[in-house]
Amino acid sequence: MTFRTRFAPSPTGPLHLGHAYSALLAADLAARYAGAFLLRIEDIDRTRARAPWEAQIFDDLTWLGLSWPEPVMRQSHRLQSYQTTLQSLQRLGLLYPCYCSRRDIAEAAHAPQEGAAPKMGPDGVVYPGTCRDRPKPPISAVPPALRLDMGKAIRRIGPNRSALTFTEEGDGTARSVHVAPKELLDQVGDVVLARRDMGTSYHLSVVVDDAAQGISHVVRGRDLFDATKIHVVLQRVLDLPTPVYHHHRLIRDEAGKRLAKRDDARALSKYRAEGLTPQDIRRMVGLAD
Ligand code: GLU
Repeated sequence: MTFRTRFAPSPTGPLHLGHAYSALLAADLAARYAGAFLLRIEDIDRTRARAPWEAQIFDDLTWLGLSWPEPVMRQSHRLQSYQTTLQSLQRLGLLYPCYCSRRDIAEAAHAPQEGAAPKMGPDGVVYPGTCRDRPKPPISAVPPALRLDMGKAIRRIGPNRSALTFTEEGDGTARSVHVAPKELLDQVGDVVLARRDMGTSYHLSVVVDDAAQGISHVVRGRDLFDATKIHVVLQRVLDLPTPVYHHHRLIRDEAGKRLAKRDDARALSKYRAEGLTPQDIRRMVGLAD
């Protein structure tokens, strides 16, 4: 298998040490296996994506010594592909419109066990299913979101255990991870696949684009491990290949907290301005002695 991986940042803030680790690790693996390292700009959230952040991404990655084939895939140019995929899912009867606000969801999720904390999934509160069996849309005709009917998706995939399995290489050796249908129903639920303001979602776009770019290995942080379960379901119902996944350790601050976009103190540009070299960054993230 030809090794093909990608780094897929969202231009919604500065790249920090965690991004540097992810990008360098992916590029190192690509080099080790004589494969390809691609860059993809995940800019579907038009309210948060900014051109200067995007420019900074190119600049920081180039400074780190990385290169990639041009043209770079940009998700904001791919809305038609996402639309076509949503239509396929619609034809399979796997989507339904959801009219719930965040507040509706929080209230309904609390309702069954008053006082108990609602179940949390990869996207926050597990959707309690309010709109799944709604016979008619409420007053507003345009739904704010389209959700995947997880139960129907699982039934469509059928009982073949290997269908809901992916290979995980992030722990140093390859292991098979089986995604149990019960876990999908209880702990993931009917996730949003298209938000009206975006016309898509992270889950849908990433699955469509990894397939479109022929990605054989997805290298990304462990924080996305649970999201991969959703991605494998989508790959099965859309008849797309499942790449090998390498969910790597997360780079944390001194207090052990995971770095976030708002951690400007650890922005690569800041280290650059202070005179650090790419080799220093490699050392800081444990990719060099
Ligand atoms: N755009 C995502 C992020 O910045 C990356 C997701 C992925 O690698 O699949 O977190």
